Amino acid sequence: MQVVTTLEELRRARRNLAEPVGFVPTMGYLHEGHLSLVRMAREECASVVVSIFVNPTQFGPHEDYQQYPRDIPRDLALLEKEGVDLVWTPTPDIMYPEDFQTWVTVEQLTVPLEGKHRPGHFRGVTTVVTKLFNAVQPQRAYFGQKDAQQARVIQQMVRDLNMPIAIIVGPTIREPDGLALSSRNTYLNPQERRAATVLYRALQAAKDAFERGERDAETLRRIMREVLTQEPLARVQYVSCAHPDTLEELEGPVEAALLSLAVFIGKTRLIDNMLVGLGRDTWPPYIPEG
Ligand code: AMP
Repeated sequence: MQVVTTLEELRRARRNLAEPVGFVPTMGYLHEGHLSLVRMAREECASVVVSIFVNPTQFGPHEDYQQYPRDIPRDLALLEKEGVDLVWTPTPDIMYPEDFQTWVTVEQLTVPLEGKHRPGHFRGVTTVVTKLFNAVQPQRAYFGQKDAQQARVIQQMVRDLNMPIAIIVGPTIREPDGLALSSRNTYLNPQERRAATVLYRALQAAKDAFERGERDAETLRRIMREVLTQEPLARVQYVSCAHPDTLEELEGPVEAALLSLAVFIGKTRLIDNMLVGLGRDTWPPYIPEG
C-alpha cells in the first residue's frame, strides 16, 4: 500500500494503477462504515484509492473542525488490511492554497435538511469532492447511505457536470443496538451513548408504521418525534419525511420517502435516515452514460 501526500506524488502513483479505479473519500478516524465501502470497491475494481482529509470548508464556524478525531497511523493499518492500493492524505494548504476562489455548488438539492441547518456545508463537500475526483480520476466512487443527502448531491453533481464516474451508495453500517457508526460517536460519554440509540428507534418506529400501511407524511414525522421526546438527553433539530428525488418535505399520503433526522445528544450532533417504499435500503447507483 502506497501512502502519498502531495499532488505530484498522487499523480505519479495514479499512473501505475490498474483500471477501473475505485475511490473512497473519507475524513479518517475509520470505522466499519468506511471499511464496508472499501470492501465494495475492492470487490468491484482493479485498484482501490482512499483519501483521508478533514475538509475545513465543510465545517461551519461553530462546528467541530478542530476537535474532529484524527488518527492516521491507525487508519493506515486498517486500510492496509483491506488491501487498499493507494492512500492520499493531502494537507489543507494542498487543497486550499492561498487565493483559492473557485467553488462548486449544487442548487435545489442542498437547500433542505442538512443544507438548512449547516449553511455552506454542501458547498464545501461538492468542492472538495470535485477536487479529489479531478486528482484521483476514479472510474467508480463509493459513498455511504448514512449521509443520504450528501450521496444524492454528489450523484446530481456528477451528472450535471458530466463527470465520467459511477457513484455507488453502500448501506448504513450500525452497532448491534442500531446506532449508525460515525466518527463523531467518539464524542459521546457512556450515558449519551446509551441515549443515542433513540435516533435508530425513532426511524425504525416510523418505518414499521409505514410497513403496516401508515402513509401520512405528518403522522410518520409525529411517530419519530414521539420516540425522540422520550429521551431527555435528545434535542431534536429536524425530523423529516421527504420526497426521495427532490428531498423536499412531503405532505399527505406518501408512496416512498427518505425518513431522516438530526438530533443533538448533549453537544454532539448526530444524523441518521432510512428509506421507505423504494424496495431498497440505499439510493440506486448513478452510472454515467457512455
Ligand atoms: P466521513 O469520513 O464521515 O466523511 O465518511 C466517509 C464516507 O463514509 C461517506 O461516504 C459516509 O457516508 C460513509 N459512512 C460514514 N458512516 C457510515 C456508516 N455508518 N455506514 C456506511 N457508510 C458510512
